[in-house]
Amino acid sequence: MMDAVIELRGIGRCYPSGAGQTWVLQDIDLTIGQGEMVAIVGASGSGKSTLMNIIGCLDRASAGSFRLYGKDVAAFQADELAAYRREHFGFIFQRYHLLAELTAAGNVEVPAIYAGTPREERHRRAVELLVRLGLDERTDHRPGQLSGGQQQRVSIARALMNGGEIILADEPTGALDSHSGEEVLNILRELHAEGRTVIIVTHDMSVARKAQRIIEIRDGHVVADKPNPDFMPMAPPPPAAAAKTAPESAAQRPMGRLSMTQDRIREAFFMALRSMNAHRLRTLLTMLGIIIGIASVVCVVALGAGSRKTVLANISSLGTNTLEIFAGTSFGDTRSGKITTLVSDDADALAKQPYVAAVTPTVSTSGVVRFANKEANALVNGVGVRYFDVRGTKLASGRFFDQAAVDNYAQDVVIDENTRKSLFGNGIDPLGKVIMVGSVALQVIGVTQTQQGGFGASSNLQLYLPYTTVEVRFLGNTALRSVNVRVADDVDPSLAEQALTRLLILRHGTKDFFILNTDDIRQTITSTTETMTLLIAAIAIISLVVGGIGVMNIMLVTVSERVGEIGVRMAVGARQGDILIQFLLEAVLVCLFGGVIGVLIALGAGPILGLFQQKYTFVYSVTSIVYAFLSSTAIGVVFGYLPARSASKLDPVVALSR
Ligand code: ADP
Ligand code: MG
Repeated sequence: MMDAVIELRGIGRCYPSGAGQTWVLQDIDLTIGQGEMVAIVGASGSGKSTLMNIIGCLDRASAGSFRLYGKDVAAFQADELAAYRREHFGFIFQRYHLLAELTAAGNVEVPAIYAGTPREERHRRAVELLVRLGLDERTDHRPGQLSGGQQQRVSIARALMNGGEIILADEPTGALDSHSGEEVLNILRELHAEGRTVIIVTHDMSVARKAQRIIEIRDGHVVADKPNPDFMPMAPPPPAAAAKTAPESAAQRPMGRLSMTQDRIREAFFMALRSMNAHRLRTLLTMLGIIIGIASVVCVVALGAGSRKTVLANISSLGTNTLEIFAGTSFGDTRSGKITTLVSDDADALAKQPYVAAVTPTVSTSGVVRFANKEANALVNGVGVRYFDVRGTKLASGRFFDQAAVDNYAQDVVIDENTRKSLFGNGIDPLGKVIMVGSVALQVIGVTQTQQGGFGASSNLQLYLPYTTVEVRFLGNTALRSVNVRVADDVDPSLAEQALTRLLILRHGTKDFFILNTDDIRQTITSTTETMTLLIAAIAIISLVVGGIGVMNIMLVTVSERVGEIGVRMAVGARQGDILIQFLLEAVLVCLFGGVIGVLIALGAGPILGLFQQKYTFVYSVTSIVYAFLSSTAIGVVFGYLPARSASKLDPVVALSR
C-alpha cells in the first residue's frame, strides 16, 4: 500500500437548520494514498463538494478526525490551512473561478505570489505551464476572451503553479462540451501518471470510470468504495516533461522572509491600483470627500497664514514702537466725544520727554471734497508735522507741511492716492490745485503713496491737513482725537507707556484716556486669525471624517462585491494577512490619491484666486501639506481597516460559494 496522504475517520459535517442541525456528511471513513486517482461520485446534493472542501482544507469537519500527511488538521490555525492549500493542493472548479481582471498568465501566477516566488521566475513558470497545456497563444488573454475549455486549462495551470501534489477537481467537466471535457480528463490522467494524487468529484459515471478507484456517496454516506476494473493507466511521461511541471521546493528558493513580504506587498499594491482603475468613477467619487477635506484644510491654513502675514506686515510698517493715546476709557466709550481734555498742550509736553522720539496730535472729521465738477466723501485728518514719520507714510510727489503751516493754520492739504484718482483722474497734476472741503479751500501740496493692504488700504479718501487748521476751520474746538507717539528707539515701549500714563494722569488729574500700542494690536490680530483658522480647520476636519466614512462605506461595498475573488485567493493559499493588506492598501491609496489631488487643488486655488482678487494672500506651509498626506493616510488606515478585516475573516467556502 502506498503512503496514506489523506485519512478521514468518522468525519461528519452539519449545518444549523431551523432549531436543530442537518448532517450533510456522516461517518466518513476514507484513506487516500499518495499517487492515487480517485473519483467521488454521487447524485447532486449528496455531499460530494462538502467532502472535497474538507479534504482541501477549505472547510472544517464538524465531527471526526482528519489527518493530512499524518498531521491532525483540526489543530491547524487559519494560516496553516492556507499554507497547506498553497503548498500541497491544487483546486480545479466547475466554473473555473479565474480573476477577470488578470490575464491567463496573471491568473496562473496568483498562487506563486502568496508562496513568495520571485516575479521573473513566477512569470516564466506560468508561461511554461500554459504552453504545456496548449495555451501558447493565449497567455495574455483575459478569461473573458477564452473558451470554457481554455479557461479550465488555465485553472489547471494555476493548480500546478506551486506544485499541486494533490489535485482536487470539483466537477471539472461540468461546464464543458464533451470534447473539451475529454481533453481536461486526459490532462488529469497525465498528471496522475506523473505521480500526483488526483481526486475528482463528479455526478457523471462516465467521468468516474476514468479513475483508478471509485467512491460512491449517497446522502452523506459512503456506500461503495471499489477499484475500477476498467482503469487504463496512462504511460508515465518522459522524465523531462515531468521535471518541467515539478516545482522547486521552498527550501531551494534563495529568498529571505523580508523580500518575500515586500514582494507580497508590492503585488497587493498593483492589485489595488488595478481595481481602482477598473472602477475609476467610483474611486473618484469615493475620493471626493477626502479631496474636498484636504483642499479646504490646506487652503484655510494658507489663507489664515497669508492674512496674518499681510496684517502683521502692516503693523510693522507702523513701527513696533508706536503708541496711540485716545480720549475716553476705551473704544466705544460713549462719553469720549465729550471728553475734551486731550489737547495739543499734552502733545507738546510729551514731545519734551526724553523717551519720546516724535509726537503728532490728530483730530479728524469727514466732509465732501470737490474739484471742478467732481465730488466725493473724504476723511479729513488733522495731523502734526511729524505724523508721517510716526506712521511711516511716504510721499509719492510734492511735500508735507511744516511747523510754520501748523502755527499759521495754513490751508494746505496732502491727499492720498484714492483722492487723487477720484478728483483728478490721470490727466491732471494735482500739485498746486485748489480743492474745496465744505466751504474751505485747500491747496494740494503733496500726494501719498498707497500703503499695501491692512489698515491703510481702505477705499476711503484721506486728506491730511495741519491739525490746527482742522480744529479752527472744521471743528471749532481744540480737543484732539488722539496723540500718536513714537517711542525713542533705545527705550522699552512698555516702560515708555508707563511713564507717559503717569505724566498724563498728572496733567489731567484723572485717567480719562487709553493707550493702544502696536504690540497689543499685533497680538490681538494674531490670536484672532489663529482662532479663525482653527475654527475653519475644525470644520474641514469634520468633512475629512465624513469623507473617511464614505471611504469605509465604499470599501464595504467593494469587499462584498469581490467576495468571490477573495474566495479564489484564499483557495489558492492567500493568508488572512494577504487579504487584509490588499484591501487596506486599496483604502489607503484611495485616500492618498485624494490627498494628492486635494493638495494640488489647494496649490492651484491661491494663484487662480489671485487673478481675480489681490486681497487674498495664500502662504502655503510645508507642514500643513505634510499633515494633509499623513492625515489622508491615517484616514485610509482607520476607515479601511474594518472592511479589510471583514474581508480577511471571510470563510473560504462561504466566499467561494458566492
Ligand atoms: P454535491 O456537491 O454533492 O452536489 P454539496 O456537498 O454541495 O452536494 O451539498 C450537500 C448538501 O449540503 C446539500 O443538501 C446542500 O443543500 C447542503 N449544504 C451545502 N452547503 C450548505 C450550507 N452552507 N448551509 C446549509 N446547507 C448546506
Ligand atoms: Mg457539488
